[in-house]
Amino acid sequence: VFGQETPKQRHAYQSDVARLRKIVINSLYSHRDVFLRELISNANDALEKLRLTSLTEPEVLSGAENMNITIKAEKDEQGNGRIIIRDTGIGMTPEELSNNLGTLAKSGTSEFLSRAESDTTGNGNLIGAFGLGFYSSFLVADRVEVASMAAKSSANPNPAQYVFSSGADENSFEIFPDPRGNTLGRGTEITLYLKPDAIEYVDTNTIIELVNKHSSFSTSFPIYLYTTRTEMVPDEEAEAEAKAADEESKAEKTKETEADEDEALVEDAEEEREVKEKREPKMKPITVEEWIQLNSQPPIWMRDPKTVTDEEYENFYQATYKDYEKPLAWYHFAGDSGSGVSFRAIIYVPSRLDDAYWQNPLESVTKDIRLMVKRVFITSDLGSEALPKWANWVKVVVDAEDLPLNVSRETLQSTQFLKQLKGIILKRLLQLLGRIQEENPEKWEKIQEVYGNVFKLGAVEDFKNREKLATLVRFATNQRNSTSLDEYLENKKKGQSQIFYLADMGKSPAELAKSVFIEKLHARGYEVLLLGDPLDEVFITNIRRWKKIPFQDVAKAGLKFGDEDMSPEEEKEEQAMLTEKYKPLIEWLRKEVRAKGAARDVVISNRLVTSSCAIVADESGYTANLEKLISSSHA
Ligand code: ADP
Ligand code: MG
Repeated sequence: VFGQETPKQRHAYQSDVARLRKIVINSLYSHRDVFLRELISNANDALEKLRLTSLTEPEVLSGAENMNITIKAEKDEQGNGRIIIRDTGIGMTPEELSNNLGTLAKSGTSEFLSRAESDTTGNGNLIGAFGLGFYSSFLVADRVEVASMAAKSSANPNPAQYVFSSGADENSFEIFPDPRGNTLGRGTEITLYLKPDAIEYVDTNTIIELVNKHSSFSTSFPIYLYTTRTEMVPDEEAEAEAKAADEESKAEKTKETEADEDEALVEDAEEEREVKEKREPKMKPITVEEWIQLNSQPPIWMRDPKTVTDEEYENFYQATYKDYEKPLAWYHFAGDSGSGVSFRAIIYVPSRLDDAYWQNPLESVTKDIRLMVKRVFITSDLGSEALPKWANWVKVVVDAEDLPLNVSRETLQSTQFLKQLKGIILKRLLQLLGRIQEENPEKWEKIQEVYGNVFKLGAVEDFKNREKLATLVRFATNQRNSTSLDEYLENKKKGQSQIFYLADMGKSPAELAKSVFIEKLHARGYEVLLLGDPLDEVFITNIRRWKKIPFQDVAKAGLKFGDEDMSPEEEKEEQAMLTEKYKPLIEWLRKEVRAKGAARDVVISNRLVTSSCAIVADESGYTANLEKLISSSHA
């Protein structure tokens, strides 16, 4: 710990930060590995920011030559360990040190706090998911010191190196000029003073394992690890001594045998050979220091899909998108935009939708498409080429080969590439979903659970992909738990010319199946779609027919069976006969219901089997369901 003399400013943490740190430190012990991933991810962000800024302000690159991340772990004689993670990224001014590390400006914070406090699963990835990564340092460290030197820029022409320092148990932190002066040139150096029980992290093998698992693919900047190993090298000093000793003994021998010179010469030569053969060369151990690169493999999207394991795809997804759950499916492909831009991409289907997804059904923000050019991150903002709402949950990495590296977000907008990319992503996503539908029933069930309603929304919203999306939609019926529209048509009865459905918002399929409107159809073996979700009816009223066959609400007039026992004439006759027969009853009922405003008319029907009566909507009138929708929106 350095810097005893420099003037220090002590700041209290915001109360939220104090609370947060407590949670992080106390409840996430079993996930403390995440600290390294979080700090590397911050280093990567800082380097990406620097690179982006340098496009318009090349000056920011002065100060340190390379753009990289280095990790050094060391242990002192007392057995105390520390890890030093350094990057040559954008760096932080003293104000930024204080604001970024000492306050929580994030909007998700209070949500995180309430979730984390009630989270009994102790899921460490909440930290990453909510962008509170820096505090994970305190999972393994008693004290954290962050030295930082902001990049030189027009706004900050004379940067100075400052230190942020805080102990795990302190309610405040200190900011002070680095007593070592400017040692970084540019960037940030984080020193973690490891807790005694976290000493395992000084082991370089542990670090290598963690980086390989969580971080090697999430940054395109090199990560170097400082390593030392012991190597045996020839010991020249000892060798020289040994040689001198040999020489000496030789000299003595020569003296002894001076008398018989010829013999001695022969003997000497032999002896010398013997000595050389017998004596091992003198060696000594030395410590070799080496920076080894941990992420020397190309990123996974650049690799041949055949060489990438499922686990690698999953780890990459989880690290990149900060999701603590594994993805449901992915699709890795190479393509061409059509305007000459070749690219590689991986599309991921997450295992759930954001809680907020259905809260604002019309808003579409595409934020999880990481667009890169030649391995370098450019933007997640597709601007006017945002995906439609139904698809905006998809997570994609795209790496384009043939765009200029200094392409800005603005010029990107003016190229054809984004527009084409949007179409390609949607097409491939639909291919992926179609393939799961055909080949993997188990996974398909999970997809339906999460995305079933998304497909209905998509068929309404995305005219171009309507057909494909509609084939992904599933409904419960009076005969089975789930059917597609195509399967429904395969199952239709001879002569059936309508697709029957019953819609009642909020009712379960089991409740709907009991409806009087279904009785007669069910008894005759007809299948009826049971629609309990508001989106079901929106879907049906929008697409109106499937393979030219119209939908028919069984609660509305206009219902036609295909297998009527009687001809329409016979049926009409019977209807007239019955109407005549029950005239007094019908007239009395009519008077009663009209007086009470309960219904417009009372008629004899042939659609009921066991129930005595049913209330139906006019053929052209609102269904009961839509009426509910309308009245609730006026409420
Ligand atoms: P997040 O990364 O989601 O913003 P963190 O807690 O990980 O949240 O980091 C907080 C902020 O601190 C970052 O947004 C960034 O501004 C700043 N920061 C953290 N680490 C670095 C770093 N190595 N270089 C520059 N800024 C950093
Ligand atoms: Mg972070």
